[in-house]
Amino acid sequence: MTSPLPKNLYAAWRGQRFGIGELREDDPPPERLLQAVWLHQRITRDHLVLTDGRPVRVLHPGFPNCESGPDFRDALVQFGGDAPKRGDVEIDLAPSGWRTHHHDVNPAFRSVVLHVIWDGTGASGLPTLALKARLDAPVGELTEWFSSEGSARASALAGQCCGPLRELPRDHLQGILDQAALVRLSLKAAQLAARARQCGWEQSLWEGLFSALGYKHNIWPMRRLAELAGTVREPLPAELWQARLAGWSGLLPAELPRGRGADGNYLRRLWDAWWRERARFGEVILPRAAWRMSGLRPANQPLRRLALAAHWLAAGDLPVRLERWFFHETSAESLPGALLALLQPPADEFWSWHWTLNSPRLKKAQPLLGEARLTDLAVNVVLPWLWARADAGRNRSFQAIAEARLLAWPASEDNAAFRLARERLFAGAVPRGLFFRAASQQGLLQIVRDFCAHSNALCEGCHFPELVRRLAVN
Ligand code: SF4
Repeated sequence: MTSPLPKNLYAAWRGQRFGIGELREDDPPPERLLQAVWLHQRITRDHLVLTDGRPVRVLHPGFPNCESGPDFRDALVQFGGDAPKRGDVEIDLAPSGWRTHHHDVNPAFRSVVLHVIWDGTGASGLPTLALKARLDAPVGELTEWFSSEGSARASALAGQCCGPLRELPRDHLQGILDQAALVRLSLKAAQLAARARQCGWEQSLWEGLFSALGYKHNIWPMRRLAELAGTVREPLPAELWQARLAGWSGLLPAELPRGRGADGNYLRRLWDAWWRERARFGEVILPRAAWRMSGLRPANQPLRRLALAAHWLAAGDLPVRLERWFFHETSAESLPGALLALLQPPADEFWSWHWTLNSPRLKKAQPLLGEARLTDLAVNVVLPWLWARADAGRNRSFQAIAEARLLAWPASEDNAAFRLARERLFAGAVPRGLFFRAASQQGLLQIVRDFCAHSNALCEGCHFPELVRRLAVN
């Protein structure tokens, strides 16, 4: 469908918000940007050094704290060769913030294990990390990224744009959502490209894929395992990769789980393989506390996801096959099926029949990769990665292929974020058929991040309704 809208209309709308890009490289950034940098780890994670010279690894950045107290709760960090440490993280622009904000005498800050600052030397008596020289992209680029990844959450109230959006002709509405989806694609691509500048394209793909397999709760430990796999890339069969990833994850039980017949044999082989490697990798094993296990669907259990990743690692040629899919698969209808065939491993002796190490054998084999996760991988990692590579090679026609694929991709499974966004922008009255494609969902999420996340439940200061109103009368 040809859109009646000017090509970069949505991008121009974004530019009219809150002075994107006004920050100069020498200015200290706003603290909210620093918090977003920490939350999304937009830093050179492989080379972090404390102000006292010790290396530090961030195993998990923690969870944003919306109440009083430190900025992040329950982070996991490792200083030098010490055991990983669990605790809170406080972010201040200046080292002196620790005392001037009275954190030093506030009991709510007793569990802080890391003080993160913009620049300077430690003054809190705590391990201190200065971010200024550790960003993964220039401050201007991060400001642009932050403007679309704001951390505020919209309330469930219908917004002031509901009325203007209802008046908008259908093709205009579709065009705005598509353009917003393409903006989102480019932002995700920029993040993968920034990581690729540190570790190479292939590794940035692996980290993206692993993170996506971590779904909402286990993104960081999954990403850490991808980082580890990148340090010891060697040809191994899938089962040995499964043993290694399971061992690194810290999720292997301390005792051999009970299992009979073929199931028991698999568990024993997994254990034996890992115990042979344990001494070599003892220092990198993640603590179990790095994982969130409660509330996970059976299919999202980390060890099952890692079993899938192990098959990809064992195959050894995933990036090449993705490129082949990108260049040779031309029919929009067969795109998802062809990608699924590429990413779906052969039947797994154990994991096709079990949700967890301890669960009973399923009556029917279950694929390691389902259609919902496939779409998440496609729109969040595979297409942005291919787009980023085309961008790095200044190949506009390949970028256009990636964009066309996103626009043709069928919708992903509904979830709470989509529901909340529809509530805000359409008050539940969504035009029929509007969200049959993933691009419409992605565009909707982008509008929420660009506009709702910078406003409040009353939509104060939001320009979006006015922009839509103006478009409707033109
Ligand atoms: S903040 Fe803006 S975009 Fe979000 S619901 Fe309100 S008016 Fe709509």
